[in-house]
Amino acid sequence: MRMIRFVGTLLLVICFSAKADCQSAPTRSASQPRELPSSVSTISALSPPSLIVLITIDQFRDDYLDRFGTQLRGGLARFARGGAWFTNAHQDHAITETAPGHATLLAGRFPRSTGIMANRIGVDDPAAPILGNDAVAGASPKRFQGTTLVDWLRAKDPRSRALSVSRKDRAAILPIGRSQADVYWYVGGRFTTSRYYRDTLPDWVNRFNARRMPQNLAGKSWTLLLPDSAYKEPDSVSFEMNGRNFLFPHRFPDDSAAAAGAAIASPFLDEIELDLALDGLTALSLGRAPQTDVLSISLSATDAIGHGYGQDSREMHDNVLRLDRSLGAFIDSLFKLRDSTRIAFALTADHGVATIPELVPGSVKPTPVRVNLADLETSLRAAITAAKLDTNLVTLDHQIVLVNRDLAAVTDRTRALDNALSLFAVRARLLPGVARVDRFQDLLRGDTINDPIARRWAHQFPATSNVELVIMLTPFSLFSEGLAANHGSPYDYDTHVPLIFAGPWFAPGRYSEFARTVDLAPTLAEIAGVKPSEKLDGVVLRRALK
Ligand SMILES: [Zn+2]
Repeated sequence: MRMIRFVGTLLLVICFSAKADCQSAPTRSASQPRELPSSVSTISALSPPSLIVLITIDQFRDDYLDRFGTQLRGGLARFARGGAWFTNAHQDHAITETAPGHATLLAGRFPRSTGIMANRIGVDDPAAPILGNDAVAGASPKRFQGTTLVDWLRAKDPRSRALSVSRKDRAAILPIGRSQADVYWYVGGRFTTSRYYRDTLPDWVNRFNARRMPQNLAGKSWTLLLPDSAYKEPDSVSFEMNGRNFLFPHRFPDDSAAAAGAAIASPFLDEIELDLALDGLTALSLGRAPQTDVLSISLSATDAIGHGYGQDSREMHDNVLRLDRSLGAFIDSLFKLRDSTRIAFALTADHGVATIPELVPGSVKPTPVRVNLADLETSLRAAITAAKLDTNLVTLDHQIVLVNRDLAAVTDRTRALDNALSLFAVRARLLPGVARVDRFQDLLRGDTINDPIARRWAHQFPATSNVELVIMLTPFSLFSEGLAANHGSPYDYDTHVPLIFAGPWFAPGRYSEFARTVDLAPTLAEIAGVKPSEKLDGVVLRRALK
């Protein structure tokens, strides 16, 4: 069984870096993480990498690395102990969701500039059908604006290639931007792409799918990697999974198609995806120099597990341990295929996550609640109808109210519309769980340097956007959506993510200065010797450079 074989891989002693490094460190045991290579000759360090590997973990809190630190010994351990780790790094925008978070990474720009301002403004595109699956919406980067590191690399050397894989379409597509590249995600139990990129799947992807790795989970179970005593979290917490299936072991259905679906909320789909990335690296000859290629891997299991079981769960603990091991095995394999001293790594996340509201300590006041705005939305629409305006002028999308003021019908009814919105804001502020309701334009005039909330909203939308109101819940409160835990707020627990660089270009250590995920792209561009082709929000994190 895959999970059992996986434990076995841990015990293998595999070279981490160049052969010489392995021979010089023969006494290290497999239980001690060996470092990502950080010191090579000056000539080597100064020349651009032949491969940039971006690893994004969906919904990964920065504090997981220390929380589980003593039990980490694979890939996460290598990043935490051997990388240049910015420990106060943030997705410094307000709507901390998957699509806007991923779009910042290789663009070096905030959502207001990438155009990907929320999941809702993501990658759905009926004009780009999914290969081999007409039942789901097509996907493309058509709403992404501007360029990314991939474009800057190609401007320098058109031979630069990019491969991006994820379970999620938006997490595979958005880091790359609008570039044509090899971009694959998981649909209906197999990895595929859309017609934006290709008309047929390449042989190597077909061969990978034919192995039916997700389907082969049928009848198997997700069990604990370590003995029970290694986990201090109680397993029996009925708030997890809304009271269903919250105890180990988690058995996959006997039906193979159902098992391939259930794989999404287990650590094993990440493991499978990392195998896909290695197959793609080989098939596409990535990282063979002289150009710099990009391999983007976004791992989504942590997000599904976090939403279902919460960040304090035994499931999350085990998931992080398994992710650590699978990332370690991935890096080992990568270093067998390519020269470890020519590879630059960046590890980050698209957002964090809040504690399940019902599990927040009683000392936190006001007590977090789940907020439902349905009644308020109904009364807002009634007020707009009473003002003889079309209710379609106004959209309530979770924490934002958008108003289309461009329509001629509004011009002579502006006061009535404003009154309806003001009444909505007054009522919303009275709702338990709502901390504040602001006019977006007022936030732009606020102290965007020292007030992180105002700043994060200012980074979210262009000043010219039609966002009228933004609704902030109290800390740890959530909008009711049926999920045990969620993210999406401008609070630090949702914005704080790991930002770790590794490879010979970076000076290992912990850097406590404030950093943003928009700094990732310019920093990678710097070591790759390329210039961004547009103005960025991010800056080069020079302290981490050798
Ligand atoms: Zn999520």
